[in-house]
Amino acid sequence: MLEHYTTAIVLATEPRGEIDAAVTLYTKDFGKLTAKAKSIRKITSKLAGHLVPGNVVRVRLIEHGDGNGFQVLDALSEKPKANLGDLLRFLNFLNKVTPAALPDLSLWYEADHVLREGDFGVESYRRMLRDLGFLTDSPVCDDCGSKRVAYFLTGDVIFLCADSLRKLNISENDVVSI
Ligand SMILES: [Zn+2]
Repeated sequence: MLEHYTTAIVLATEPRGEIDAAVTLYTKDFGKLTAKAKSIRKITSKLAGHLVPGNVVRVRLIEHGDGNGFQVLDALSEKPKANLGDLLRFLNFLNKVTPAALPDLSLWYEADHVLREGDFGVESYRRMLRDLGFLTDSPVCDDCGSKRVAYFLTGDVIFLCADSLRKLNISENDVVSI
């Protein structure tokens, strides 16, 4: 059983059983991982107020050697500076584009900066996509080949121009502007 301290962005939480939850974290030191948070849905839980999607948290994790993965023991959070729409779009983006268990310090610092500064602009997304190796110097629309790329379709990892986004009838909720 190993104990780790790291900083993480809470990407999502999902109920597990009556009182527990599975928390998806993008951690500085281990990349994306899912950890169990025990009794988090009890009213007395000290973790509940911290393990909220969008929060940047200092966490203490236990890694079970028996294949049961991680468990969160303690968490201390900072609230993000963001409106809910920007925040949810960003968390969805980060959750979809990051591979599990692959730390990436440069991407982590960029994501941390976005949340701390509330900087959800085009340049932030471009930097993260470059970092991930998705965005090249001269991107083209994956639909029509246009060089006027304006959107990144998060779930499918494709780039689109404004015309193609309209033509394909894709919701602005599913893309980030780049
Ligand atoms: Zn196009």
